[in-house]
Amino acid sequence: MVAELIFVGTELLLGDIVNTNAQYISKGLADLGISIYFITTVGDNEERLLSCLDQAKKRADVVILSGGLGPTPDDITKETVAKHAGRKMYLDAEAMAVLNRYFTKRKITRRTSNNEKQAYMPEGAVLWDNPNGTAPGMCLETPEIVYMTVPGPPVEMKLMFEDYVKPYFEVHTNHTIASKTLKLIGIGESSAADMLKDLMEESENPTLAPYAKTAEVHLRMTAKGETKAEAMKLIDAFEKQVKEKVGTYIYCEDDRELTDVIIDKLRDRKMTVATAESCTGGMLSSAFVDKAGVSDVFINGWVTYSNEAKAKMLGVPVEILESVGAVSEETASIMAENAASLSGAEAAVAITGIAGPGGGTDLKPVGLVYIGVCVNGKKSVAEYHLPGNRSKVRENAVKYALIELMKVLDEV
Ligand code: ATP
Ligand code: MG
Repeated sequence: MVAELIFVGTELLLGDIVNTNAQYISKGLADLGISIYFITTVGDNEERLLSCLDQAKKRADVVILSGGLGPTPDDITKETVAKHAGRKMYLDAEAMAVLNRYFTKRKITRRTSNNEKQAYMPEGAVLWDNPNGTAPGMCLETPEIVYMTVPGPPVEMKLMFEDYVKPYFEVHTNHTIASKTLKLIGIGESSAADMLKDLMEESENPTLAPYAKTAEVHLRMTAKGETKAEAMKLIDAFEKQVKEKVGTYIYCEDDRELTDVIIDKLRDRKMTVATAESCTGGMLSSAFVDKAGVSDVFINGWVTYSNEAKAKMLGVPVEILESVGAVSEETASIMAENAASLSGAEAAVAITGIAGPGGGTDLKPVGLVYIGVCVNGKKSVAEYHLPGNRSKVRENAVKYALIELMKVLDEV
């Protein structure tokens, strides 16, 4: 089954709001194994919306429209759908009840005449309740295409999607979907795709899709089957083939993030960790503290931004800072080693780098970051040249610090 999405609203075209509904709906439908080939955004304009509907009718089984169900004259979605389907609009008692309930619940006595507009429905449409607002959604089935409308406000849309849109597709498809995601570090998206090229091209069920995340690659395997168990069985067999190619890069096969996996690893081994940061200013320690219950693993962190702080608080020798500098392999290594010894933690990670936009030189450009790790006395330093602006460099530095820690943990 193929669905097409149309988002109605001039404010979406002007960039005033981000189309988060598109992500929510397309992800929800992908999880159900529904194909989407086209997503369109169109302004509050009847002629252009009609042309979008013409297109959808040619290439999809179901068209879902979001937005433009409100009471004002520029809310034209329902009326345009009716026109496109050749249906009349009529005042629907059930829709009127949705409207009345909303006003009574909020003790609103003053209502404008245009509110009644929301109670008009195209003939033959099945109304979808909207407990959070005044605009009901609807489903209109015609021989050529099924029209669905959902409200623009995300809270209202989400509830309607879960209560009506999803069940519709579940009933009207004869398969279920299972999916599993493998998470990889230490490999880029293009390398992973290259190694998995044959599997990606040859296999139609399951399908395999790589997604690039900050310093990670996620591989999503999706299978269709008559039952969930049958789909899962297909995934299990396929997963073995995937692992033969990229197994060494996989760090996790469940919902956990890299930080969770590291914390679990440290906890299993009864180890603790400390951090020493310069350009990331506490973001690495925050990555640990973001996780509830981390107090048995995370001891403390230092933010030593100036050279003086690095010398005074972490004991980086002034000679080192003056000769090779704060952003250097040596400094990163000493920061990690001393963070471990001063805190008493078995593991320590240090970050020192140039986040920019200023401060870079030919020898030490913006984006140069050193990551030092010390685990049970075993030390390592990695040099990275990270792309992007200041916040991107800092975000990446944290991610690579976790990756470097993971590497050393796997070695000791
Ligand atoms: P209303 O009764 O509020 O007018 P509506 O169904 O007519 O509802 P719109 O007027 O299109 O919806 O949008 C109302 C608000 O909902 C927008 O101002 C915006 O904040 C949010 N919204 C609409 N469409 C989207 C979208 N695709 N993604 C995220 N938010 C959206
Ligand atoms: Mg509106």
